[in-house]
Amino acid sequence: MGAGSKQARFAMEWGRAVLAGPLMALTHWALPPRCPGCAEPVEADHRFCPGCWGRLRFLDTLGCATCGIPLGDGLAGRCGTCLADPPRHAGIHAAVAYGPIARQLPIRLKHGGRIGVAETMAGPMARRMPPGADLLIPVPLHRWRLWRRGFNQAVLIGEGVSRRSGVPMARDGLRRVRATPLLRGLSPKQRHKAVTAAFRVTDPAVVKGRHVVLVDDVYTTGATAGACVRVLLAAGAASVAILCWARVIEGAGD
Ligand SMILES: [Zn+2]
Ligand SMILES: [Zn+2]
Repeated sequence: MGAGSKQARFAMEWGRAVLAGPLMALTHWALPPRCPGCAEPVEADHRFCPGCWGRLRFLDTLGCATCGIPLGDGLAGRCGTCLADPPRHAGIHAAVAYGPIARQLPIRLKHGGRIGVAETMAGPMARRMPPGADLLIPVPLHRWRLWRRGFNQAVLIGEGVSRRSGVPMARDGLRRVRATPLLRGLSPKQRHKAVTAAFRVTDPAVVKGRHVVLVDDVYTTGATAGACVRVLLAAGAASVAILCWARVIEGAGD
């Protein structure tokens, strides 16, 4: 990309951020309550219609003790993947399994500007808060994406989780110092490489010795969260768990 087009892109991103982001958020703020899954009108904010509610798969505290992935009925302990190659994070805590309904919430929030959906996600997430957590840190966006969207969805969700759980949030605890390419179509190894070195801890003193909970909307391959976990541990965090709205579960469809 040449310097000229880079400048043009910067101006465009900036313009969209100033005009589109906040305006879009404002216009959606006062709309009547709609199901966050299918957008049909519902009685109150943060309620799902019965059809969507029945199709959401809430995850409980059972499952692999390390990554939280559901194990077979009556099984406990750790899954084969975690036994073979123990991850560096202190657990993945997701409210629901990623699926046709669950995926609509981050889409409505990020691309539809329905910022109230962040609160809908924060409720069930707060109930999945790992014990002993003492600091929330949202997965940061690169500044270009932040300007274009007008908000970081992980910050909005984290604010709701923090209010409900009483666990404080360091909203700028992590910075994204490098934009990452689209990860679609890359192998796990390529994804890992693409996000390594993209993140920095803003102030190591803030995370040193703390049991950190990384907040994000969706956990898919774990490449982004994994990079955040590594830099937080390197900066002295005592542990880093992951808290998200939805996580992809192999074999769960969609
Ligand atoms: Zn619905
Ligand atoms: Zn596991």
